[in-house]
Amino acid sequence: MGCIENKTEPSTLSAPGQLDYNSKEAMQPRAPAIPSKELKNGGRVKSNDVVPEGLYRPNYRIMTPNMRSPEYVQLSTAAAITLGVTNGKMYRCECTRCLNILLTYPEGCRANCAYCGLARHREAERDFADRNFIRVDWPAVPIDEIIEIVAKDPEKSPFHRMCISMITHPNSEDDTFTILKKWTDKISPDAIPISILSNPTTMSREDVQRTRDLGADIFTVAIDAATPELFDRTRGRGVQSPHRWDKYWEILLAARDIFGPGKFGAHIIVGMGETEQEVLDLVQKLVDMGGHSHMFCFFPEKGSLMDHLPATPRDQWRRVQLARYLIDYCDVNFDQMDFDDQGRVVGFGIEQEELSKIIDAGIAFRTSGCPGKFQDDISACDRPYGDSPVSDIASYPFKLNKKDIKKVRKDLDMPSI
Ligand code: SF4
Repeated sequence: MGCIENKTEPSTLSAPGQLDYNSKEAMQPRAPAIPSKELKNGGRVKSNDVVPEGLYRPNYRIMTPNMRSPEYVQLSTAAAITLGVTNGKMYRCECTRCLNILLTYPEGCRANCAYCGLARHREAERDFADRNFIRVDWPAVPIDEIIEIVAKDPEKSPFHRMCISMITHPNSEDDTFTILKKWTDKISPDAIPISILSNPTTMSREDVQRTRDLGADIFTVAIDAATPELFDRTRGRGVQSPHRWDKYWEILLAARDIFGPGKFGAHIIVGMGETEQEVLDLVQKLVDMGGHSHMFCFFPEKGSLMDHLPATPRDQWRRVQLARYLIDYCDVNFDQMDFDDQGRVVGFGIEQEELSKIIDAGIAFRTSGCPGKFQDDISACDRPYGDSPVSDIASYPFKLNKKDIKKVRKDLDMPSI
């Protein structure tokens, strides 16, 4: 990656005698600091008002230009490398298959989610366009420049999908509509399908419909925290953030109705204090509704309110990754699985031989997300090293080799039979 923020990586191994999962008691965010009045709402960027000149690479040693969507958007480092607007190499990946676009404003995201590098409480410390998000920098680029590059030959583009990540900002709906219109004027959604990573807090059912009418193919809701209690603790009242569990579900249900089966989904972060049983119950609920879950392994993002907490132990993560794949793609039901008194998976609900084949195929352990052009259970959105360091990969952004499978089996404590 161009820039990986965490130089000293937290251990993902359970020490002897320690729990092999992140418990609710342990995963308590710290309280957000309150920035001074001048630094609130992007005050520093707006008062300096530096005019942007094309590509901006995050650099907190120089004054951040005054950039704003829809003219400007930010791209994941992987997408910027693949698009060719910035240099860099990714470990064992030639490119990413998803063009991840993030709306940008000097005021930034107005929410304060405890695990997120983009959260509002960072206003004093770092301008929005300089903040790390899922472990990497997000360079800012004029949207017209991105469209011009991709529109040259959309059919042969390395990107199998484009995704607009909305943030919590009063302009994010209108700007998403503008970007969708600009994009589809030049690039057919048949050549490169579009996903929306939504901002339910400020959205209405009509807004969801409008994204569909403007050409979006899949609509996702980042529930992130798997239970109402954890949601409120990490994204709601617990951290002075505006999100509410019920509002997220209102928009998710609207997406189900408007986009239809297989065309909506929810993001879930594993290891924020929920049990494996709770998260897999949610996975089953989404499948019963006709949707999918896209999973992330909790990683303590530098600068976030949870950066002092442990990453999800690999054994917990692998059990959930495997069980989620069985529910989403192998017709195994949550009710067939067995759990211990700590809610850990102790039975996956299928014969050992069949389970072994699925483990060895490796797809269950790849990054999950909206599909690309290879097959339904292989995500276009591969987010290289978004939830782990390369030294101990959580979500594999590439096809696993024999050595990788051996490592996964070790994590699962399931040596090959
Ligand atoms: S709404 Fe999204 S971008 Fe904003 S703080 Fe929460 S997780 Fe981060």
